[in-house]
Amino acid sequence: MPKRPSAALRRPRAARSQPPGNRRGVERYDVVIVGAGAAGLMCAAEAGKRGRRVLILEHADRVGKKILISGGGRCNFTNRWAVPEDYQSENPFFCISAMTRYTPQDFIDLVEKHRIPYHEKKLGQLFCNGSSQEIVHLLMTECDRAGVTIRLGCEVTEIKQNGGQNNRFSIETSLGTVNANSLVMATGGQSIPQMGATRFTHEVAEKFGLKVTPGQPGLVPFTFKGPDLEFCRELSGLSIPCLASCNGVRFEENLLFTRRGMSGPAILQISSHWNDGEPVRVDLLPGFDLASHLKEQRLARPKAELATVLSSLLPRNFVRAMCETPMGGTALNNQPINRLPDNSLDSIASALKAWTITPSGTEGYRKAEVALGGVDTAGLSSKTMESVKAPGLFFTGEAVDVTGPLGGYNFQWAWSSGFCAGQYA
Ligand SMILES: Cc1cc2nc3c(=O)[nH]c(=O)nc-3n(C[C@H](O)[C@H](O)[C@H](O)COP(=O)(O)OP(=O)(O)OC[C@H]3O[C@@H](n4cnc5c(N)ncnc54)[C@H](O)[C@@H]3O)c2cc1C
Repeated sequence: MPKRPSAALRRPRAARSQPPGNRRGVERYDVVIVGAGAAGLMCAAEAGKRGRRVLILEHADRVGKKILISGGGRCNFTNRWAVPEDYQSENPFFCISAMTRYTPQDFIDLVEKHRIPYHEKKLGQLFCNGSSQEIVHLLMTECDRAGVTIRLGCEVTEIKQNGGQNNRFSIETSLGTVNANSLVMATGGQSIPQMGATRFTHEVAEKFGLKVTPGQPGLVPFTFKGPDLEFCRELSGLSIPCLASCNGVRFEENLLFTRRGMSGPAILQISSHWNDGEPVRVDLLPGFDLASHLKEQRLARPKAELATVLSSLLPRNFVRAMCETPMGGTALNNQPINRLPDNSLDSIASALKAWTITPSGTEGYRKAEVALGGVDTAGLSSKTMESVKAPGLFFTGEAVDVTGPLGGYNFQWAWSSGFCAGQYA
């Protein structure tokens, strides 16, 4: 088990050395990083290892808040199988360089170096055995060893570009002015605003002439209205394995009915590819030939009711609801199976294997795990994460237009992009 954090780690350096707010003169650092999340901390440790004097400015009262709540408190810190093709972006090639230079194995090696016990849950998803706090501790240890200073509860009020070669940026904060040669924006995406997420990085990008690709909440539960919502509420808590698809993308995982609609890994994954008003197709028995099975059952147990036959394959409550007040179309005609001709059995099979649901919306940024879109990669170097137009200005992590699926992919992007920026900032 990792050791208990040292006093210096529990109480970041900056807190020890913070002079009273605005009375302080102008300070100077080589690198200022805005945001002490996954990407910001990784970047800071790397830049610090290169001998750069690094300051992180974080407006929250502690670092890595999203890491702490991630993976149900156990942080799904990477995915063994994450490769660039897994990520969504206007430019799908942008992440290749960073993902190749800092791979899932590199982060696994770091986790092992810090002796953090972990396990693989499924599909290459790696979780801490203990708690997410161990990943925050790892990052803080790396930052501490690299001499990084962290200032918490610090609001950045203005960023100005200076003329000087070694002093390119002047950063006004609620705790005084800091000059820096490199500025790294690592404030994450807009998901979970109640935890301090902001659009700040995007505002800075726009100010410095970069475009921001419009986004929307990703990895987010679907909401429904009217009878469809009633259907979901009735089954709230029920989880069914399925294959969900829309816009040519498919995910085989579980679907979960909730009080507001649907969630579960299959729905969260597909939500990142869904646009308002579009239907989602759900195969409730993936890889299973339901039509042939029903015809066989008609011979084997002719008097059995359709609902009884289906209940051996799907949850009884779901089958009952689909017979009584179905969601997404026609009710299943429940009667002894020998009264149902082939074409009826075929359409029952397709109602369940191509179940079509149309969400009324999503639960929005409040419940989204990620924000799609972000700083347009056309304005960034894929090698360094530096702005092409504003030398010395870097963008990392979720704030950039690169988004991964569920399962450790988004932290891996934060580590990879933070690592690369840390080599050049
Ligand atoms: C509930 C939940 C669970 C998740 N679970 C997982 C998981 O298990 N695996 C996975 O891969 N991904 C997971 N994610 C996604 C993952 O947390 C993010 O993709 C990742 O944290 C992005 O890293 P980042 O450093 O870019 O941003 P963040 O980690 O969000 O860090 C940004 C930091 O910037 C600070 N900040 C914001 N605005 C300002 C400002 N104006 N001034 C100063 N500081 C500011 C924030 O307070 C924060 O500390 C989860 C997300 C959520 C919401």
